[in-house]
Formats: sequence, C-alpha cells, structure tokens
Amino acid sequence: MRLLLLAPPGAGKGTQGERLARRFGVPHIAAGDLLRAEARGATPRGRQVAAYQERGDLVPDEIVFDVLTPAVVEAAARGGYILDGFPRTLPQATGAAEVGVRLGVTLDAAVYLSAPDTVLTRRLLARASQGGRTDDTADVIRHRLQLFARATGPLVAYYQKRGILVAVGADQPPESVTAEILARLSDVPLATASDVPPGREGPAAP
Ligand code: AMP
Repeated sequence: MRLLLLAPPGAGKGTQGERLARRFGVPHIAAGDLLRAEARGATPRGRQVAAYQERGDLVPDEIVFDVLTPAVVEAAARGGYILDGFPRTLPQATGAAEVGVRLGVTLDAAVYLSAPDTVLTRRLLARASQGGRTDDTADVIRHRLQLFARATGPLVAYYQKRGILVAVGADQPPESVTAEILARLSDVPLATASDVPPGREGPAAP
C-alpha cells in the first residue's frame, strides 16, 4: 500500500495516518513529525526548520526532501507507506513523482480529507487548550489554513487528473472517517512488496 494523505490542519490526518498504517502494516511517515524532530536538533538547519514551523510557514523544499526521502525510499522498498503531509505543494508532488519513477514505484491513492475551516479552527484551538503545539495559536492557525488552500489545494486537482484521488469528508467521528476511507480503498488495486522491481529492494540513495 502506497498512499498519501492530503488534508488541511485539524482534519485528523495524523490519527488517520496511524490507523491506516496499522491496518496495512506499513510505516506512517508524517512530514510534520519528522520536521519537528529535525527542529529539536541543535543544528543551524534544525533552528531554521523550527522558525518556519513556529510561523506556520512551509519549510523549504530542499530541506523537506533531505529529511523525508530516506524514510520514503526505505519504506517503498519494504512494501509501502502512508505519507502524511507530504507532498504539500505542486513542486513537491512533481519531485516526489520523479523519485517514484527512479524507484519504479507509483502511488496507489491520494486520500483528501476535507472539513469547513470553522470546524478545523475549533479542533485546533481545542488541541491548543490541551497543551498542544506551539503552532496552534489563532493567528498561526489562520495562516496555516490559508497556506493549505493556496499551496496544497492545487494538489487535489493534480491527483484527480492522475485518477487516484479519494475524497472523504472529515467532519465526522474519526472511526467513521477511517471506515469510509477503507471502504473507498477497497476498489483500489494495492501495491505489495513484490511490486518493487528487482534490484531495488534495499534502501537506495535518494
Ligand atoms: P503538520 O504536522 O503536518 O501540521 O506540519 C507542521 C508544520 O511542519 C507545517 O506547518 C510546516 O511548517 C511543516 N511541514 C510539514 N510538512 C511539510 C511539507 N511537506 N513541506 C513544507 N513544510 C512542511
């Protein structure tokens, strides 16, 4: 199973990513988590990533690819992944597709979770009140939602054109969202480890 989750902040892609990863027995690769881990490192690059994340801005593509490619390449060789929060822009999507061509792997589905901004904002503010993330403040949430619409929104049409978009409403309980995703994926032909071309089983250089 090679799947990506396309969703605005607060739509529950972390929760759904974990559930789908467990269900399909593949790693859940969360771009935000890997970048937060990078930001915790006391390196110039870590400090740079932290600054982008705190403002709710997108981390530059070069850093995103450096941080994510090794994890994606390794997971692809082992049978798949649930990619959460990457790609997030058209240049990232075309860059990721090129890596896929090099590895001889293609995406099975792009799951798009959507919900009204009012619902997303309410959920994120609730997460903030429970000691959530530093980027869950009202101003930064507004900025992240606008950025999603502007930078990530075009990916919906991009994956629709490629015939792999699965759109699911996220304004319902998490169990119902998972059930709907699984029902919709039951029609999708899924990749297995044996789909990886011979000679590409091991982690390759990105
Ligand atoms: P998330 O955990 O998915 O909400 O992501 C948190 C933050 O990490 C975002 O607001 C961005 O600053 C950064 N981030 C996550 N994924 C990406 C990506 N694909 N490209 C650029 N920045 C990202």
